[in-house]
Amino acid sequence: MREVLSDDTSVLVVGGGFGGLSTAAYLARAGADVRLLERHDRVGGHAGVLERDGFRFDTGPSWYLMPDVFERFFGHFDRTPEEYYDLERLDPQYRVFWKDGDRATVEPKRRNVHELFESYEPGAGEALDRYLAAAERNYELAMERVVYPGRDRLRDYVDTDLLPMLTRARLFGSMDDYVSRYVEHPKLRQLLEYTLVFLGGSPTNTPALYSIMSHVDLNQNVFYPEGGIAGVVDALARVAREQGATIETGVEVQAVRGHRGAFTLETDAGVEHADVVVSNANPAYTERELLPPDARERSPQAWDDRTYAPSAFMLYLGVEGDVDPLAHHSLVLPTDWSAHFERIFDRPAWPEDPAYYLSVASKTDDGVAPDGHHAVVVLVPIAPGLDDGPDMRDRYREFVLGALAERTGVDLRGRIVVEESACVSEFADRYGDPQGTALGLAHTLFQTGPFRPDRRAGPDGLYYTGAYTTPGIGMPMCLVSGERTARAVVEDAPGTRSTDATAWSDETTVQ
Ligand SMILES: Cc1cc2nc3c(=O)[nH]c(=O)nc-3n(C[C@H](O)[C@H](O)[C@H](O)COP(=O)(O)OP(=O)(O)OC[C@H]3O[C@@H](n4cnc5c(N)ncnc54)[C@H](O)[C@@H]3O)c2cc1C
Repeated sequence: MREVLSDDTSVLVVGGGFGGLSTAAYLARAGADVRLLERHDRVGGHAGVLERDGFRFDTGPSWYLMPDVFERFFGHFDRTPEEYYDLERLDPQYRVFWKDGDRATVEPKRRNVHELFESYEPGAGEALDRYLAAAERNYELAMERVVYPGRDRLRDYVDTDLLPMLTRARLFGSMDDYVSRYVEHPKLRQLLEYTLVFLGGSPTNTPALYSIMSHVDLNQNVFYPEGGIAGVVDALARVAREQGATIETGVEVQAVRGHRGAFTLETDAGVEHADVVVSNANPAYTERELLPPDARERSPQAWDDRTYAPSAFMLYLGVEGDVDPLAHHSLVLPTDWSAHFERIFDRPAWPEDPAYYLSVASKTDDGVAPDGHHAVVVLVPIAPGLDDGPDMRDRYREFVLGALAERTGVDLRGRIVVEESACVSEFADRYGDPQGTALGLAHTLFQTGPFRPDRRAGPDGLYYTGAYTTPGIGMPMCLVSGERTARAVVEDAPGTRSTDATAWSDETTVQ
């Protein structure tokens, strides 16, 4: 792949999130002259880090899932993740606390999860095995036939056996309907559906295609990279640099004009020129803030009409003393969570009985909190666009800490020594996220695959990468997005040596 683009093809990547770093690495390897400009002081984007008084918090993602996708990424550069960071399989994977006082611990051993299911509903252990076998098959199918090769256009599905196969397996219906064909107990359904929060959807608005997430969770398991997700970000930046890309932080791109071969970018540090521009900033923001009006592909209204994934009310808490029985990952769930989803997607309001998530990385990693302390992150999914003024945040903080003490027995109040928060405003201000969504475009059926924003949009030579385009949300998907955007750049380059869409396959070129 190294020789495919001519050395003097200059590429400017706007933003150093997972998608931007991945694209930069692949394009540098393909031979382009790649510069990545990131407006913040660190790369990583939503995968940020907060360090204070001996505490270290991952401010965004904390679940390292799909290790196969990370291995594949590093493999394309003749490397392994382990050369950059140590991975630990979490045991337990997570603990669930229900409002009625019930608790369940999900362990990596499949046998134990089988027994856990059986304890709630006779026959549910066997149903789980069938569910996971189907999820594994569908995962392989999705990755090999859709995610990696990239089927971004509706016509890519015509004349393939894929659509009939997915329809027959009822994978276009809602997750909730699909899961209820296997298990009835509401708590077991929650255990199979909670992974949808990673995609920013609800059990009723997300297609059953995403039942593959249970394969990711319960077959592949949950990992922790020592030092936290920030270590993974550093590794990606190293790989990109090792391939020859230049990364500059603290430089904000303020305008993008021109077209292939003749782009001019205004930044707060001066004017830059490039043949190709890749935007890892989301397309709604890129169109609104960076492109001239006549270069915009969609109207502002079209962006307002999209279904956005939840925003999040986040607390980063440095806490003195013990936090048992919280696990590294914990979920605190109401027994009926439909009211919470309704308050995110149908009638936006602050949830009164929320389902939320806690991360305590210091349970696994001594290096992220001082001795005798824990680094606790609280994430409550809330509707994007909510008013998150200081009064509301204060009230909600009190409410969440009180509810946490009641549900889990862990009272953090009175022993918090470091505290920060983030909410709708921070996601909107830091990343230009529409309506302050934390994750981007929800994976509803009509925002999946060919219905997601195109990576080629606007002026010729401008490309998108990251969670807003295909395949979608999450660190692993953004790594793949980077690969696919780089592939599109190579395919479109004048004089490129291979215009075959399959040319960027593992067998033929990259490895
Ligand atoms: C709270 C939270 C929890 C999450 N949990 C998980 C999880 O557990 N597991 C998981 O896999 N995923 C998780 N995710 C999702 C995951 O973090 C994202 O999908 C992924 O990181 C998005 O990457 P991206 O490539 O879209 O780039 P982004 O992260 O959106 O980065 C874009 C970059 O572009 C920069 N930029 C924007 N405009 C400009 C400009 N004008 N000039 C220069 N630079 C600019 C931004 O500063 C930013 O660094 C979570 C996300 C959040 C917010």
